[in-house]
Formats: sequence, structure tokens, C-alpha cells
Amino acid sequence: MNKRILFLMSDTGGGHRASANAISQALHHLYPDQYETHIEDIWIDRTYWPINRLPNAYPWLSDSGVRWWGLLWRATGRRPVRFSLFTTADLLVTRPMLRFLRAMRPDLVVSVHPGMNHMGLRWVRRCGLDVPFVTVVTDMVTVHPLWICPKVTACMVSTEPARRQALALGMPAEKIRLFGQPVSLQFAQMDQSKAALRQKLGLDMVDEAGERPCVLIAGGGEGIGRIYDIARAVAARAPHAQLAIIAGRNAALKARLEAVDWEIPTRVNGFVDNMPEWMGAADILISKAGPGMISEAFIAGLPLILSGYIPGQETGNVHYVLDNKAGAYAADPVEIAERVNAWTRPGNSALAEMMRNAERLARPNASLDIARELRCLVEDREEQRAHKGRRNTLRDF
Ligand code: UDP
Repeated sequence: MNKRILFLMSDTGGGHRASANAISQALHHLYPDQYETHIEDIWIDRTYWPINRLPNAYPWLSDSGVRWWGLLWRATGRRPVRFSLFTTADLLVTRPMLRFLRAMRPDLVVSVHPGMNHMGLRWVRRCGLDVPFVTVVTDMVTVHPLWICPKVTACMVSTEPARRQALALGMPAEKIRLFGQPVSLQFAQMDQSKAALRQKLGLDMVDEAGERPCVLIAGGGEGIGRIYDIARAVAARAPHAQLAIIAGRNAALKARLEAVDWEIPTRVNGFVDNMPEWMGAADILISKAGPGMISEAFIAGLPLILSGYIPGQETGNVHYVLDNKAGAYAADPVEIAERVNAWTRPGNSALAEMMRNAERLARPNASLDIARELRCLVEDREEQRAHKGRRNTLRDF
């Protein structure tokens, strides 16, 4: 029978589901027909009103309510606050979760969400499930204490600064694995040229002055940030460029962008499921400092202009990109547009240099490495069980 792997996540932003999907894809790619993978937004799918509506607050909290998010992030970094949070949440959601876990009986549980580690492990053990429990930290650099539950079987992180923080927060060194951010295998498998991708996506190829650089603008899964103002500023100040804008799940933003009579060639999209192609076709990515988008841009060798960050979990990402000279940070739309204009002028070497630095940071095999490690953990646990079983049988004789 196929082994069952359960991913615990919640759709707060696009990154948690994207990471779970990427690892699941890697497992099916490496070990076809051997694993059943289940990706569960447990808050929405397994709890009741009004708790199942809590994740709906995230798009607001991470955008216009970002100050509140910053406060919440800092507050939950304190042990007494975390303790009261767990106690309350435990009271409200434990019963449906135990019912769910008992029915599913997974062979491995993987948490890709900071809210699922301590509670998730407790639920699994309360069900009497003797299976490995793994945390995959999807925040790239700044690790919140909620991620760190030293009793998990293994904890996977994406960067050296994240490894150091996990250690400092009490994760035993032998449980930490540094594999990189899990992103879709499609990023590593891209073999189409920029020209072919532009043609496929209906982007402009060249104009009379030469190539038309493509500026990709996105704001994570939720379409967060000043995307509209940035796009307008770039269209006004970089007349030789073209724009590809991804509004994600932000339908109001998409409608607003579609209503514009653009000065330069512009493609507006909602949530796309072919991000590797858009990144492969682009020359610059303007984005908030989401770990998913940044890691994907590294693999695509795409220089970044970070236009904002969610305080707390994305703060360190900005420093990581700047320290490694893979991009720049600018919050003001006019400053961003001026940078785009300068970087894409013929003879400017800035883009080529940042592209090389981005490629140096890329970890295209992270999802595959994580999938291999998960398989080892499942097999080790099976072996331990079998060994215990043999010992008990011998004792009975
Ligand atoms: N994404 C996507 N389609 C979209 C917008 C975003 O597939 O239209 C993916 C993107 O490729 C990345 C993830 O959503 O893998 C966004 O993750 P990130 O960590 O950058 O930001 P978050 O949305 O989690 O804040």
C-alpha cells in the first residue's frame, strides 16, 4: 500500500501551499506511485466557524494592516503569549484535528506553516501515531520561534542565517538540514529560451531600438504592495520596456490594472500557475520580499528590486538579497522606475552582475533533496518499528 504523507499548512500567503506542492511534486517525480500526498489547510478545511475564517484576515494583515501584523509577529515571539495562544487554539481545534488524524493515519507529517509545529506534533502524538514529524521552515532568513519545536524529527531550513537562528532558538544541531527553499521543479527544468517563452506568453520581442526588456511585477500570492503605483511609474519612466504584471489573488487590483490605457506593452494577469515561464521571460523582477518569489528568482537568474516586505518574517530576506548583491531595495515607485530605466539602458552592466550573483544563491534541487530526506525518515522509522517487533517476538519465546 502507498505511504501517506500529510502536509499541514494554511493559505496565509501563497508560499506555504507552493512549498508543500513543490515537495509533493518532487516525491511523485522521484518515487512514482509510492506515496499519497495530502495537502491540508487545516484551519479552513478542518475547523468550524469562526475559526475557519481566521486565515481570511491575512491578506489585509500583510498589506494595509501590516502594522498590526508587525505587532502580532513580535508579540508571538514571546513565550507567555505563545503559551496562551496554544492553550486557546488547543481548546478550539484539537477535537476536529484528532478526528481527522485518526481517520487519515499518515505515515509522515510535514508542517510547512509556523502555526502547525508545536500543536501539530502534540496532535500526532495524542493520536498515538508513531510517525516522523518534520518541519520545513518556509521563511527564508528570519525564523520566528513558532517554527522551532525541538521535539520534531527533523527541521529543514533554506539558508545559513536561518540555520544559525534555528540553532539559537533551541533546535538540536543534528535535527537541522539545510537544503534551500522548496520551489516547483519546473524552475530547475526550464529549458526554453527567453525568446521562446516571450513568444509563448504573447510578450513583445523587440522594437526598433533593439530588445524590449521585460519587467515582471508581482506581490506574492495575494498581490500585495503598491503594484499599481509601481507599474504606472515604470510605464511613465521606462518607455523602452514592457510590463508583465501578476496581481495574484487580488481581483480588485487586476480589474484596476486592466482598466488602464498603458503607454508601453503591458500584460496583466491574475493568479498564474506558470510562474517559471513568466520569470524565464523577464529581465527584472519587482516584488515584495517573499521567500518563494526570491528563491525562484535566484534559480531563474533574475535580478530583483524588492519594493516592500512583511515586517518580521520577510525583514531578513531584504538584507540577504542586498548583502549578496542580487538586487536592490526601493519602496518609492518613482525610485523603482528610475532604477529600472537605468539598469535596462544599453551598456549598463548592473543587470548582468546581479544575474550572476542571483544564480550563485540558487538552490534548484531543494525540493528533490527534501523529498529524498523525507523518504529516508519514513524508511528509518519503519525499520525501527520492525526491529522493535523482532525484539519483542524473541522476548516472547
Ligand atoms: N505564485 C503563483 N502564482 C501567482 C502568484 C504567486 O504561483 O500568480 C507563487 C509564487 O511563484 C511563489 C508563491 O506564490 O511560489 C508566493 O510566495 P512568497 O513566499 O513569495 O509570498 P507569499 O504569497 O507567501 O507572501
